[in-house]
Amino acid sequence: MRAILDHIGIAVSDLPAALAFYRDTLGLVVETSEEVLSQRVRAHFLPAGDAQLELLEATASDSAIARYVDKRGPGLHHIALRVDDIGAALTYLKGRGVRLIDERPRPGAEGALVAFVHPSSVHGVLVELKQSQARSPAGIRQSSISRFTIGDLELISLYDGFFRLDGGSMFGVVPKTLWGAKVPVDSRNRMALAMRPLLVRGVRTMLIDAGIGDKENDRFHDIYGVDRSRHLDHALADAGIRPEDIDIVLATHLHFDHAGGFTVRDGSGRVRPRFPRARYVVRRGEWEDATHPHDRNRASYLADNFLPLAEAGVLALVDDDQTIMPGVKVQRTGGHTMHHQVVWIESGVERAAYVADLMPTTAHLPEAWIMGYDLYPMDTLAAKQAFVREALARDTLVLFAHDPDIAAGTIVEEHGKRRIGPATR
Ligand SMILES: [Zn+2]
Ligand SMILES: [Zn+2]
Repeated sequence: MRAILDHIGIAVSDLPAALAFYRDTLGLVVETSEEVLSQRVRAHFLPAGDAQLELLEATASDSAIARYVDKRGPGLHHIALRVDDIGAALTYLKGRGVRLIDERPRPGAEGALVAFVHPSSVHGVLVELKQSQARSPAGIRQSSISRFTIGDLELISLYDGFFRLDGGSMFGVVPKTLWGAKVPVDSRNRMALAMRPLLVRGVRTMLIDAGIGDKENDRFHDIYGVDRSRHLDHALADAGIRPEDIDIVLATHLHFDHAGGFTVRDGSGRVRPRFPRARYVVRRGEWEDATHPHDRNRASYLADNFLPLAEAGVLALVDDDQTIMPGVKVQRTGGHTMHHQVVWIESGVERAAYVADLMPTTAHLPEAWIMGYDLYPMDTLAAKQAFVREALARDTLVLFAHDPDIAAGTIVEEHGKRRIGPATR
């Protein structure tokens, strides 16, 4: 088994005093805080290099942390080692006579599976084994839908599987020494990206983007590491939506990882629109660029994804920023492509934004972390600065198109540092 230091757990009795040292004096940042109900404990994670410190405060007097603090006072509580397959690790350790506190994994913080090893087998140290839930033992991430409510509108973040893009290309001028600490890559230097189309249900049922689809060949699937073992059909079924329920399909832009699912190849080999009743809404400038590609953007625009829409007469081109259905508005950002657009979703006092490739993953929150794929990176920078300012000024649920683990979150600024906080709706 391969174990990697994940975090060091520290039992605290006075959280504000502990934060005054670990956060304010040491300058570490509390990235996430989470209540683990089963343990009656609140965990605050502060990244420190490749591992994290976890400050643990009891939320009830019968919590194990409360008992620990009562007996020994605050201090070092446990170390956590990350393993790929926690079930296999427990079987292995048991076979070697190691004394386990948990013979079977149980839910821990950050959606992980955890199990504790008894200190008597670990030279006096309590050891937590941890397996991130985001990845199954085989390293394949789980796909699931997430539902949110924005006033009268229901939003469902869907999925169309995963693909992989070169890590360097994903972060442009940012060196791997910086992004490499945050984003794991495979042996071909590719990072995993999800495809998360968004469903909006209001007076109409709208699908924003549709993933990569299934028209491409094995070579394409190999180059882009496409994993569609669970794809948009599954996601729509999870959401209780049939293809014919979709009234409007809205494109943020026409790159293959967003427009691939707009069409399907039928039994006779003909490519036709995938959603039989839908009108497909595309920005005119994006349509022009996609249908007149140049050498720099040609690989991203695959004609089968969009030309059949025009042939079938289901294409609606829009020229400006405008309302596509009540509560749903497009806004051109440029940058990624000249006519790339984000989608604002607003109802009552609540607001969300589907940011597509303006901020493809949560790792792209820093302003200068801009994809090398972007045709006009300075426009991306300006659009991202304006977007983040707007999202901070008024609470906005940010929906990510490509983050491998996180469908949605909010942008939070604390002590001049920005981070993605939990989705709150
Ligand atoms: Zn794109
Ligand atoms: Zn994309």
